[in-house]
Amino acid sequence: MHVKLSNFRIRARNLRLTVRLGLGFGALVVLMAAVVALAVLQFRELAWHGEQMMKHDLQRMLQVQEIDQHVQGHGSAMARLLTSPRAEREAIYPVVDAEYAALDRLIANLSGETADVVTAATLADVALRRDRYRDVFIDIVTEIEAGDLLRASALFSGLGQQAMQSLLSASSALLAREQATLALRQQEVQAQINRSEWMMIGLALGALALSVGLAWRTTASVARPLAMVQAAAGRIASGDYAARVELESADELGRVAQAMNTMALAVATREAEIAAVAYADRLTGLPNRAMLQRWATEGNWRQVTVLLMDVARLRTVNEVLGFGAGDALLVQVAERLLAALAASGPRDKAPVLARLAGGDFAIVAQDMDRMAAETLRDRLDVAVTAAMACDGHAVDLQLAYGLADAASAAAQACDAGPLIDLALQRAELAVGEAKRRKLGWAWHVEVDAAARARQLSLLTDLRQAAVAGQLEMWLQPKQCLRSGRLLGMEGLVRWRHPVRGFVSPAEFIPFAERTGHIGVVTTAMLDAALQTLAGWSRDHAELSIAVNVSALDVRDAGFPARVAEQARHWRAPLNRLRLEITESTVMEDPESVLLVLHELRALGVQLSIDDFGTGYSSLAYLQRLPIDELKIDRSFVAGADRQPQAQALLRTIIELGHTLKMSVTAEGIEQPAELRLLTDLGCDVGQGYLISRPMAPDAARQYLQSIAAVTTEVTFA
Ligand code: C2E
Ligand code: MG
Ligand code: MG
Repeated sequence: MHVKLSNFRIRARNLRLTVRLGLGFGALVVLMAAVVALAVLQFRELAWHGEQMMKHDLQRMLQVQEIDQHVQGHGSAMARLLTSPRAEREAIYPVVDAEYAALDRLIANLSGETADVVTAATLADVALRRDRYRDVFIDIVTEIEAGDLLRASALFSGLGQQAMQSLLSASSALLAREQATLALRQQEVQAQINRSEWMMIGLALGALALSVGLAWRTTASVARPLAMVQAAAGRIASGDYAARVELESADELGRVAQAMNTMALAVATREAEIAAVAYADRLTGLPNRAMLQRWATEGNWRQVTVLLMDVARLRTVNEVLGFGAGDALLVQVAERLLAALAASGPRDKAPVLARLAGGDFAIVAQDMDRMAAETLRDRLDVAVTAAMACDGHAVDLQLAYGLADAASAAAQACDAGPLIDLALQRAELAVGEAKRRKLGWAWHVEVDAAARARQLSLLTDLRQAAVAGQLEMWLQPKQCLRSGRLLGMEGLVRWRHPVRGFVSPAEFIPFAERTGHIGVVTTAMLDAALQTLAGWSRDHAELSIAVNVSALDVRDAGFPARVAEQARHWRAPLNRLRLEITESTVMEDPESVLLVLHELRALGVQLSIDDFGTGYSSLAYLQRLPIDELKIDRSFVAGADRQPQAQALLRTIIELGHTLKMSVTAEGIEQPAELRLLTDLGCDVGQGYLISRPMAPDAARQYLQSIAAVTTEVTFA
């Protein structure tokens, strides 16, 4: 096997791992079996030698020693024959014969078993001398039986003794020979034991060396590729998906490495897919907010300028032509913006276009000065505002621009998080400002630190203000423009601060709304309005009071129940209560406020849209809302008597209100000419300094009394 992991290389036999392991351990087992078999053989051989020594050699020695005994036994029997009378000799002959027969048998036995030449020769010598001895003792016996005892004695002590001594010395020689043979055998066995010892040691060492070698080879051929695979896994885990284990092997490790490569590829592909989803807008393919954040962090951006663009009529297009058309529109806007950007030419730190949520696009640039940003905005505006074909309709598109810049030092100073977030957040505020002030675009203006500190401390005070009764409800009359009759009042909050004096709602309302503290004001104003309405139920039962509520109130599902509870508490008629909701609040998220508004309406509460004309109202939603009053923002009223265009706009809004079966109120009437104009245009209700400024509760009471007096005068006149 040849394994290469980038810069690592290893080699191994091209055999399957299981085969290699099997062969290795098989060889080891065979070796061990050989060692055991050899040991058994050696043991058996030694045992055989021992047996030979015991059975054969020692027995032969004993037999040789027995020859001596029988020779001497025979000799002494012969001596007894010589000295015994004839009658006793009969009993001695059998002894003589038995001794000789034993001698004969022993020699015959010994001769039959030996293979050794020298021993055989020695034995032959013994047999020869026995024969000679036999011949002599036959002669002696013959002489005895012949009665010649003297001659027999002479033969016995002469030739007989000689033959006997000769036989004994030959048997001694045989004994020596047998002893030598035994000693030789002993030496052989000892040598055999030594040889076996060495052989066993050698075999054991060989087996040991072989098993160490096998173990090392097997471990190396498995462990090293595994280490390479592990190294690759580590690199893949740390995000280096280019790491590959290349190998020319079909064994198990090869397959593991291949699986690893497949996995690395799959992970890389999947991560690319996830990145595509996470960092790009699906619809336009443009980078999204997360991508901007990543670029800014990775590029360590120090300064950034943002042009945030809000597609104004996207909601209407979605409602009227459907979401498909809205999407197509967004794609066209993206294309036009991209084309306009590309015209500015490629360069380092070129501005990038991104799509944020909804109809928002952002162009983000590093180190772009304000002049350049405004020039770019002008160019983009020209590129985008031309009519677009959308689902067969020509759509006149408008963008609201919020421009902002931010430096990383500022982001750190106010702890606003990443630089790009701060810039986008500022640009969003600027878009809001541009829309509110009906300008096409606006730069973000930083509220200075002192103002922010003042707002913060106000917020802390606000919580106690309601409890301490510092929040007062001032009332501004609303008049029927046709009859001049008083219809009701709008309750406007006034904060009588113990240190700062009167604090204008403009100073704390928007801030309280942003920070979620507006509920304190709403509750205080509802209390004041409902208490006043309860008080009016006798003399001014026909008058209503309008209370301004915020986005947070009407998005809270529990709000209607709280209003009902407060009304019960003051025993106030809910049908005289009117709630004013600004147009932008309703249009920001119409779906979520719809249910709350219907519940309020079901309680009998009347509902108005305040500051109409400043938000981007959708007609479709206006129709669905349970609202019966449109309050035209005072910016449309101011100086309208001198501007034909403004008059046309007022006429359109009033007609629209009437078409939707709503009563139309004009706010901020300051001049008699404005009042006349609005009356002529058919506006139903008027409110403004010309009629009356907002009044403190006492002043409002006097105002009502004065009106009652006038009415009475008229009645009784
Ligand atoms: P708004 O609801 O549109 O109230 C009308 C504002 O126009 C009041 O300002 C009123 O004093 C002012 N105004 C009335 N007639 C004229 C006029 O002829 N000329 C001019 N230049 N101004 C006129 P104010 O009281 O300062 O309130 C400002 C805004 O603060 C209100 O606008 C309303 O949106 C908000 N606000 C006031 N009170 C409350 C409240 O209790 N709760 C909430 N959520 N918002 C409130
Ligand atoms: Mg209002
Ligand atoms: Mg208003």
